[in-house]
Amino acid sequence: MPSSMYGLVGQNIGKSPSQHMFVSAFAALGINASYMIFEPNSIDDLKDFVHGFAGFNVTIPFKESVLEVIDGTDRVAGEIGAVNVVKRNGDMLQGYNTDWIAAVESLKSKTPVLQKKVAIIGAGGAARAIAYGLRGVSDVTIFNRTQERAESLARIFKCSAGKLDEMKGGWDIVVNCTPASDFLPFPASSLANAFVFDMSYRKTKLLETAESAGCRAMDGKEMLARQASLAFGIWTGKKIGWEYMLEKASEALK
Ligand code: NAP
Repeated sequence: MPSSMYGLVGQNIGKSPSQHMFVSAFAALGINASYMIFEPNSIDDLKDFVHGFAGFNVTIPFKESVLEVIDGTDRVAGEIGAVNVVKRNGDMLQGYNTDWIAAVESLKSKTPVLQKKVAIIGAGGAARAIAYGLRGVSDVTIFNRTQERAESLARIFKCSAGKLDEMKGGWDIVVNCTPASDFLPFPASSLANAFVFDMSYRKTKLLETAESAGCRAMDGKEMLARQASLAFGIWTGKKIGWEYMLEKASEALK
């Protein structure tokens, strides 16, 4: 049987743990497949390559613009407006979103979310995913560097938008959905007593600040593992536990 090619599409992803997670999972289940890292300069560059893939993961900054190069999405990815998994079905490329459930399940495993006051920082693909998952469950406010994008997302998911530089405290949960790693993208005083979820799977200034302020905090490794386990199921129809993916992600990040 010929090898199927899968991959990760994004920018600055050379050190991503995804390749190690998926190559290990394919080998563990005896699936003849490869997984490559692909860093196009723009979504246009991706157009020439997408049809070589049996499936691919999508990461920053293409989770929304990838909609331009695929043929359709399932209902949930369409409602979210962002895709992190693409699967070839015959000649058609179909988009899915496994980030939202991965984000919500990781968060819920550490802290209650029902009717909690949640600040989401960011308005890109990852913010869309968790805002979708928490809509109608938590009391969500979205903050973003580009204010109009926060307002637009708040309209879509029927929640509130705030101004990033005027952000104050009083949150049960603060979720960082930006790639800011060596600075805080909002005032540190807003963290008081909050549970902090930074979607980054590496050490960040935010996690360091939260821990030294005595806040409970989690990084994005469990979310990464959960979304990967779900993506694997979509591509292969086979189950691999997120705990296995977490073990492999942790090996790659050592
Ligand atoms: P994206 O669609 O490109 O969105 C990036 C967001 O971050 C935008 O809201 C952008 O604001 C904001 N931003 C970018 N640079 C910033 C800066 N210097 N200061 C303040 N805000 C900034 O990216 P994404 O796909 O949502 O990913 C966001 C982050 O989440 C990435 O670090 C990604 O690795 C992480 N993530 C992790 C997982 C996981 O499984 N753990 C899953 C998904 C995402 P503007 O609107 O103003 O540009």
